[in-house]
Amino acid sequence: MQVLDGKALSEQIKEELKQEVDTIRLAGGKIPHLAAVLVGDNPASQVYVRNKVRSCEQVGFQSTLIRRPADVSQSEILDIVKRLNEDPDVDGFIVQLPLPDHIDEDAVNLAISPEKDVDGFTPINIGKMTLGLPSYLPATPNGILEILHRNNIETSGKEVVVLGRSNIVGKPMSILLSRKGQPGNATVTMCHSRTKNLAEHTRRADILVAAIGIPEMVTADMVKDGAVIIDVGINRVEDASRKRGYRLVGDVDYAGLEDKVSAMTPVPGGVGPMTVVSLLMNTLKASQR
Ligand code: NAD
Repeated sequence: MQVLDGKALSEQIKEELKQEVDTIRLAGGKIPHLAAVLVGDNPASQVYVRNKVRSCEQVGFQSTLIRRPADVSQSEILDIVKRLNEDPDVDGFIVQLPLPDHIDEDAVNLAISPEKDVDGFTPINIGKMTLGLPSYLPATPNGILEILHRNNIETSGKEVVVLGRSNIVGKPMSILLSRKGQPGNATVTMCHSRTKNLAEHTRRADILVAAIGIPEMVTADMVKDGAVIIDVGINRVEDASRKRGYRLVGDVDYAGLEDKVSAMTPVPGGVGPMTVVSLLMNTLKASQR
């Protein structure tokens, strides 16, 4: 079984990005600048944003972190978005999700300028992606495409089953893998919480993408021999033996899979680091507009 090491691949891509930034700097061009808005103190969000800022530093991008407490008003967040939309020095920005309940995530998303939407979540970018036009692709699905592409995993004509229909992972992943292109051209089935007989679908999958958010829900009996497993899930489960009291597991239970599948992404160190790298790739693209 091949371990699809997203951490190593992300380091390789970061090195490529760093070289591009060095070339831009030598030519006196604009250094890419990513801004991130972090609201409240959700521990997972803090880790994600910290990783994004650290990765910017690693590749020589400029980064700005804007933090607000959980009780910030919606109008203040919309003001920040407006300011970032208008700031010529900021090439792209993200508003880390989830936002507190009193803030309307859709309203915030709709306020982001599509030109600076390096998360690829706004309707214009989702629409362009669906039509196969150039756009900022959503970071996690784009990172998965990169994993498939750089590991020479053929998708054309394959049965792909995507578990999950979220706007940020499952839905765009299904669209991208069924698009005409490379990677793409797959026959895609998208499953969700109302899907009946889930295992009947998953057992047909040459490539199984799990983005559900339920720890180790996919078990070996649900997986076809020789399948490629992309585990998007990042779930905290209690573990008293760990200093921090928990460990991270995916949506796939790895027990019994090692001798059964042809390749799989680990958790952590699989899809997660590639998501961050996708964001950097989009930011570089934004800075070259
Ligand atoms: P979400 O909660 O928005 O969506 C979960 C989806 O799973 C829903 O569409 C739901 O219909 C489906 N689902 C729920 N129960 C199901 C079941 N029993 N059978 C089939 N489908 C079922 O989640 P999300 O934002 O897409 O994230 C999914 C997981 O991926 C989470 O663990 C999240 O932490 C992780 N994630 C990881 C990255 C990364 O970079 N690795 C990025 C985003 C999300």
